[in-house]
Amino acid sequence: MADAPTTLVILGASGDLTRRLLLPGLGTLLSAEPTRRVRVVGADRVELSQEEWRTKVRDAFAEAGLDDAVAEPVVEDARYVRTDVLQEDAVRALVEEVAAPVVLYFALPPSVTVQACALLERIGVPAGTRLALEKPFGNDLESARELNRQLLRVVPENDVFRIDHFLGVNTILNLIGLRFANRLLQPIWTREHIEKVEIVYDETLALEGRAGYYDGAGALLDMIQSHLLEILAFFAMEAPATMHADEVRSLKAQVLRSVHPWGHDPVKGSRRARYTAGSVDGRRVPDYAAEEGVDAGRQTETLAELVVQLDNARWAGVPFILRSGKALGSPRKEVVVTFRPPAHVPTGLEDTVEPDRLVLELKPGAVTLDLSMNAEGNPFELEQKELHAELGKPRMLPYGEVLGAILDGDPLLTIRGDEAEELWRIVEPVLQAWRAHAVPLQEYAAGSAGPAGWGTVPRG
Ligand code: NDP
Repeated sequence: MADAPTTLVILGASGDLTRRLLLPGLGTLLSAEPTRRVRVVGADRVELSQEEWRTKVRDAFAEAGLDDAVAEPVVEDARYVRTDVLQEDAVRALVEEVAAPVVLYFALPPSVTVQACALLERIGVPAGTRLALEKPFGNDLESARELNRQLLRVVPENDVFRIDHFLGVNTILNLIGLRFANRLLQPIWTREHIEKVEIVYDETLALEGRAGYYDGAGALLDMIQSHLLEILAFFAMEAPATMHADEVRSLKAQVLRSVHPWGHDPVKGSRRARYTAGSVDGRRVPDYAAEEGVDAGRQTETLAELVVQLDNARWAGVPFILRSGKALGSPRKEVVVTFRPPAHVPTGLEDTVEPDRLVLELKPGAVTLDLSMNAEGNPFELEQKELHAELGKPRMLPYGEVLGAILDGDPLLTIRGDEAEELWRIVEPVLQAWRAHAVPLQEYAAGSAGPAGWGTVPRG
């Protein structure tokens, strides 16, 4: 007998995440794995007919390029249950009605998610129910801890799936293969050989109408506290013996526990800035403070840089520079590893030698190794040349990759509770320093490269 389908209950089925990311992600998952069995149940407080919900699912699958032959049975089987997730009776009925195994996916505003979890704690869920949560996981360290305590009163930790879709990006997962399956790289992934690591996610996109969310978050929380620190964890963790979720997540949590602002000084170790009017790719971008829905007094940063150190034997003294921002002149989404110079370069060559660099481009996926090699002409003159490999098209959207693992009950590609707390522990002193105005909010024109002088390691 074929396995029973997993029931994916999307709470917040009428929202932006469901339409733009979740359903298309599911479409690409089914495209890559057409025999996978999933039943899609939408739940939201808006009134929708079964046909309207099925049309939403069908449209999202079509957008994802899913074949009709694979899409139609899933669409026809999809169901909508009008539910206010804060109404105890309605949630109880929904939970009792859906067939196991069940994933309850919270595509809800964060405050509603917290209240809905409290309600689930009261009513209880059948054993084996999985909870999938979107960030933010709390809004500070204390609330993250409280949310974790509450979730554990509903289901065990391995049934909680905290989502960071970056963990479904093939180029980020590639870090694991690249690091641990190459004799060439494995021994040099240490402080003895690596001088610095930059993890950069610069976008040309500006606010694009997302003030409601972004103005309350800013670049530090939107990107660095979540995605970039997770990349750092994959980059810097010790070698796992297997790819078992418990082991990999323990190693990620271990390395995150070693992370602190550079010099343990959140003021020196961080920079923030906000864009002013300018133009990006010929598009006029207004001053951030004048964008609709922005509260200029909040001083939300649109570009942030955090230099961190890792207090462990492998990485002591190596700066990790995390940077992300919006409305920049050119996109830059990459991890750049700069190696230390060789112990000795034969006299006569050294003037031309530049440091070796390994560049992992996140979008589109590519790996480049910059090495000093013989230039044309004089055999003793070296120049930097690139060894370049494209990673090719990913098999599905990152949301599809993460969702597939959740539907299989494998937490490998999601964030464990202790990791989520560490992510807050790392940035909280920085947020406090910023709120106290100890770090000035600089400005940069939209379309520029950002303020001058960033990307350096603070002294002392
Ligand atoms: P939306 O506000 O677009 O969607 C939330 C949905 O939940 C809406 O349809 C809303 O209905 C519904 N809802 C609210 N309260 C209830 C309730 N009591 N009962 C039932 N349904 C309810 O939010 P997003 O889709 O943008 O975000 C959802 C989550 O995903 C958030 O945690 C966000 O941080 C996260 N996220 C979003 C991303 C995005 O790009 N959108 C990216 C990454 C994470 P109504 O419209 O009537 O209020």
